[in-house]
Amino acid sequence: MRLLLLTTLFSLVCLHTFAQNNQLKISKLTGDFYIYTTYNTYEGNKIPANGMYVVTNDGVILFDTPWDSTQFQPLLDSIKWRHNKNVLMCIATHWHSDRTDGLEFYKQQGIKTYTTISTDQLSKQNGKKRAAFLIENDTTYTVGQYSFETYYPGEGHTVDNIVIWFKNEKILYGGCLIKGADATDLGFLGDGNVLEYETTLKHVQRTFKNPTYIIVSHHDWNSTKSLKHSILLAKKLKKKSMPIQ
Ligand SMILES: [Zn+2]
Repeated sequence: MRLLLLTTLFSLVCLHTFAQNNQLKISKLTGDFYIYTTYNTYEGNKIPANGMYVVTNDGVILFDTPWDSTQFQPLLDSIKWRHNKNVLMCIATHWHSDRTDGLEFYKQQGIKTYTTISTDQLSKQNGKKRAAFLIENDTTYTVGQYSFETYYPGEGHTVDNIVIWFKNEKILYGGCLIKGADATDLGFLGDGNVLEYETTLKHVQRTFKNPTYIIVSHHDWNSTKSLKHSILLAKKLKKKSMPIQ
């Protein structure tokens, strides 16, 4: 009895530690889908970066890597502890550090890491971490009981940004291309395309109808109005940036 009590107490302490770790937050999205959040400092502000993972019968698929390099291993440990599963594969959705920083670390752990060819070229040019496997075209992957597709909609946040679509679950993982429903701007655009951004977002909207969830990198994902709102922001930005005729 005492042992049982101790074990329970230990589990609760662990649960508490995992839940209270303010460097890594894991929230359940729906079913086997989870959002993990790590933090980094950008221009003096603490910025959250969301990624996603899905627990399949065959193992866990990770979308993007933590932005905070101290959380690469804790994320794997938390996944193992919560689900008793290993991470099988990891796909990064564009070349910036908040998506790719953990690719090399995960490759060393035996995880199959993926980016598109375009992301790989930009990662190489910019001295970012690179994946072991390259995605040549939009591709559908099936892992365990889940299928998802990668989709390149055009230039926006960066020239290589892709989104992920779970057709059956209607989950759209938008990465940094889509901003939150209450975002005031489209964020860092130094590597983006302000004239194409709106068209690119419209490609996403037209291709993936009525998503139940839209996951965005740096804001809340609690509203599917995020895509429409981002299109509006991109439209305004385009107007402002159009060369004077
Ligand atoms: Zn980002």
